[in-house]
Amino acid sequence: MRVLITGGAGYIGSVMTEYFVAKGFEVWVLDNLSRGYRDAVADDAIFVEGDINNALEIFDSKERFDGIIHLAAHSRVEESVQNPSLYWENNAVGTHSILEFARIREIPRFVFASTAAVYGLSAQSPIVEDTPPSPANTYGMTKLTMDMAIDSYSRAYGLTGTSLRFFNVSGTYRGRRERHLPETHLIPIAISKIKGGDKVTIFGSDYPTRDGTCIRDYIHVVDLARAAELALGRSNEGSYKVYNLGNGNGYSNLEVVRTISEVLGVSCEIEFSKRRDGDAPELVTSSRLITEELGWTPSIPALADIVKSSLD
Ligand code: UDP
Repeated sequence: MRVLITGGAGYIGSVMTEYFVAKGFEVWVLDNLSRGYRDAVADDAIFVEGDINNALEIFDSKERFDGIIHLAAHSRVEESVQNPSLYWENNAVGTHSILEFARIREIPRFVFASTAAVYGLSAQSPIVEDTPPSPANTYGMTKLTMDMAIDSYSRAYGLTGTSLRFFNVSGTYRGRRERHLPETHLIPIAISKIKGGDKVTIFGSDYPTRDGTCIRDYIHVVDLARAAELALGRSNEGSYKVYNLGNGNGYSNLEVVRTISEVLGVSCEIEFSKRRDGDAPELVTSSRLITEELGWTPSIPALADIVKSSLD
């Protein structure tokens, strides 16, 4: 099967590329390297440097793809609140361009990296696919809008569309790891601060949660890749599905930092600062639907093991 992975030079994309190459797929990567790294792309993948808005010009109409895994996006919550223009342009307009590419070139399967951020302010826990979306930030709004676009394209043009709503992703796979610049995610920041003997800053200690800090559901990145493989295997023409992906366990930011400190065997100092713009208090899901319908189960469910993998 020949698959196009957009954003394949980013963190999740580099893992997906490595995973699909290892599974024997012919993998093409389209990435403009705005936030990704050329050397993060597996040697056995075909790399094309370019923008998702130009896919129709970049790929000759003779190049036939069996499916697209669309990951290329900006994903910093606070940045999305401060600079919505960037997010609507890149995440919404860019995704529409790739959808158009799929429609015009008759690419039958479309797997989209959606996000827990679409649920944002929903008070339900655990969140399920029927939980009404309520994004707390522009990032979540752009992803929700494009979920709806994929739904309508699937019905009208016979695509098999799948939105995978990733909860908090971490871990490494075959040396592919988080390399965000600047790094904004809690696990890699806390690992590097604790190792360096620096204080870890937790944003907000007055949320309506058990210890006042935000609660998140962490999933290992390789388990996402497996979910994308299963989603790509769906073959119901004209059908659109949403699946949530997490481990079903919520960890508060304080618990995450303490787990990292225990795994490292190093004590750590914590300081609290003000809330970060756009943060939802609690995002924990049930992945029962994808387990029941596609047979997905997490291979690395425990937070301590996800943290250990992030140390590699
Ligand atoms: N966070 C924190 N300190 C940091 C980085 C993140 O307290 O240095 C918090 C952040 O405010 C959020 C949680 O950790 O409550 C998870 O944030 P992250 O950026 O890792 O993922 P997100 O949930 O935004 O996708």
